[in-house]
Amino acid sequence: MNPAPNTTFLTAVLLDRDGTVIEDRHYLADPEGVTLLPGAGQGLAALAAAGARLFLVTNQSGIGRGYFTEADLHACNDRLGELLGEYGVTLTGTAFCPHGPDDGCACRKPAPGMWLALRDRHGLCAAATAMVGDKPEDVAFGRDAGLGLVVLVLTGKGQAAARTLGVPVPEGDAPVREPDPADLAARPDWPHAVARDLAAAAAWLVGRATARERGVSNSSGSSGASGASGTPGSSPCAPLPTDLLRSEPS
Ligand SMILES: [Mg+2]
Ligand SMILES: [Zn+2]
Repeated sequence: MNPAPNTTFLTAVLLDRDGTVIEDRHYLADPEGVTLLPGAGQGLAALAAAGARLFLVTNQSGIGRGYFTEADLHACNDRLGELLGEYGVTLTGTAFCPHGPDDGCACRKPAPGMWLALRDRHGLCAAATAMVGDKPEDVAFGRDAGLGLVVLVLTGKGQAAARTLGVPVPEGDAPVREPDPADLAARPDWPHAVARDLAAAAAWLVGRATARERGVSNSSGSSGASGASGTPGSSPCAPLPTDLLRSEPS
């Protein structure tokens, strides 16, 4: 088989930071305040083991507002890297928007700037990339970019986001809920799934990727790569150039 199965569907996962990977602290500026959410380390390790490269995409308007500096942000992200290292997880890249909501920039989620930058820098393919976040802006960012799978987690601001979007949430002991495909088709602002936390999101993503590799179709099998042909950034994936593959840590 060429390319390798685990590089054909889930090659990258974009992750919101606050409320998705770490506890959402108001304008976090102190590395000592970086705390992984329960299951986050294991979830990211599972995604990495499935062949996905991991990227942060984070709005950090506290910089533009003057609450903390870019150096503070990097210190917090370095601390996050240390904590993830304990799970054998390495983030391949980080993108952040330092601007405020009224700055009119092109990079504050849901604007596509961070996706476009990571895509171009790392050779990412929209259909083989997933997005996980806890706010409607994260979902819109992923859906508008034509990413293959977009997951809303219920940690952080996720419960409020689900209410805002009106999307059904997992019931009982279920870790994940997928909207009815017909409802999803009518709601370009909905995620492909709602997960209790990052660990549940990761397990669902790995399961979907594995099913896709095996050629298993299910009721929502066509929703993953939902971008119609002709939509920028949503074309089926071509194998990555070998020089790009070589330049990335595995
Ligand atoms: Mg968040
Ligand atoms: Zn920005």
